[in-house]
Amino acid sequence: MLHTVSNNHHRLGSYTGSRCFRKHVRSGRRYSSKSIGTFISCSNGAGKSPYVPSGTQLNEAKVIYCVAPAMGHNQESHPESHFRVPAIVSALEKMELTSKFRGSEIMELQNFAPASVDDIASVHARAYVSGLEKAMDQASEQGIIFIDGTGPTYATATTFQESLIASGAGISLVDSVVVASQISQDPPIGFALIRPPGHHAVPKGPMGFCVFGNVAIAARYAQRIHGLKRVFIIDFDVHHGNGTNDAFYNDPDIYFLSTHQAGSYPGTGKIDEIGHGTGEGTTLNLPLPGGSGDVAMQTVFDEVIVPCAQRFKPDIILVSAGYDGHVLDPLASLQFTTATYYMLASNIKQLAKDLCGGRCVFFLEGGYNLNSLSNSVADSFRAFLGEPSLASEFDDPAILYEEPSTKVKQAIQRVKYIHSL
Ligand SMILES: [Zn+2]
Repeated sequence: MLHTVSNNHHRLGSYTGSRCFRKHVRSGRRYSSKSIGTFISCSNGAGKSPYVPSGTQLNEAKVIYCVAPAMGHNQESHPESHFRVPAIVSALEKMELTSKFRGSEIMELQNFAPASVDDIASVHARAYVSGLEKAMDQASEQGIIFIDGTGPTYATATTFQESLIASGAGISLVDSVVVASQISQDPPIGFALIRPPGHHAVPKGPMGFCVFGNVAIAARYAQRIHGLKRVFIIDFDVHHGNGTNDAFYNDPDIYFLSTHQAGSYPGTGKIDEIGHGTGEGTTLNLPLPGGSGDVAMQTVFDEVIVPCAQRFKPDIILVSAGYDGHVLDPLASLQFTTATYYMLASNIKQLAKDLCGGRCVFFLEGGYNLNSLSNSVADSFRAFLGEPSLASEFDDPAILYEEPSTKVKQAIQRVKYIHSL
C-alpha cells in the first residue's frame, strides 16, 4: 500500500510554518522573466499536499519536470555553470516542448519545497550538512570558496540553500509520480532539471562539482515516505556515480547500476565493485572503453540493464541522467549521440512501465556542452511523449569513429559473468 499525500506533511511541515513555497524558491527562477508551463497553485484542499498536482492534471501529463537552476551557485568559466539549466529550458521552449505549446501533456511543477535537513541527513552526515550551512558566512565574505579539491567543487553564498532546493525538486517529483501511478497505468515521467548535480557527493561531504546526493536522497525519501522498498538507480553519466555507490554499497534494497567511461574521474567503479555484506550483488559497475557509443549502450541496455532490473523487481526507478557521455562533451570521450539519449529515455520509460507501475524520475547530473546537453534532454522529452526522435537533425555521423566493439563485448561478457546475468 502506498501512502502519499498525507505523509508528505511530515516533511513539508518540518521546515516552515508556511505551506506555500518560500521567497527563495521564487528567487531561484529569476533568470526567467516570464513564467513557463503550468503553475501548480497553493490551494490547500483538506488533507492534500499543495505540492502535488491534482489527479486530473497528473492523469493527462506525460512529462512532469522541475526547474532549479541555482543561479547564485556559479564560478566563472567552471563547466558546471549557471548557464546549464537555462540553456535546457530555452531549448524546450524553442522546440515547443513546454505546456504553453503542449497543454497538459507537459507539466512544470513550479511549486515545491526545498528538502529538509532531515531529508539530506538520510544520506549525508549531519556534521557535513551543518558545516556547509555555517560555511555560507565565509562564502558571503569571500564570494566563492572551495569545498572539495577533486572537482574542484566550489560554493558561493547561496550554495547551501540552492542545493536544498535542487534536492527538494527531486523529491517533489517522486511525490507526483507516485500519486500519478495510483490513478493511472501510464503516469508521467519526472525530470528534475536541477543543479548542483549530486552523484559524486559522498555521505561525508561534497565532491566532483556535487553538493548533495540528489538521487540518493530521493531514493531514501521514496522508501521512507512512500513505502517503496526497492529502488533501482540507473546512472548513465560518463563518470562513476561514486557518491550513490557509497551510500548504498551495503544495502540490498537499493540497486545501483552505473555505466561510465573506464579510467575517467574519479577512478572508482571498477567492474569487480559489486556491493558488500548483505548488499553484495546489488551494485553493478560497468566501465566502458573510451569511444563507446550508441551501439555499445544499446547492447548494455538489452543485455545488462533489462535483466538486472527484471531480476531485482523494483518499486521505482530513479535515473542519474548525465549528458557528458555525448561525443561533443568537453570532459570525456565516449561517443553517445542525441539518439543514444532518446533510446535510453524511451527504453527506461518502458522498463518502468513493465516493472514498477511506470514510476520513474530522471535527475540531471553532468553535461557541459550546452547544445548537446539541451538537445539531448529535449529528445528525451520526445521519448517520454512517445514522439519520434529529432536526433538526425542534431547528430553528425561524420564526426563519429568506429566503436571499440571487441573491448565493449569483453566488458559486457565480464559483467554478465560476475553478476550471473
Ligand atoms: Zn559526469
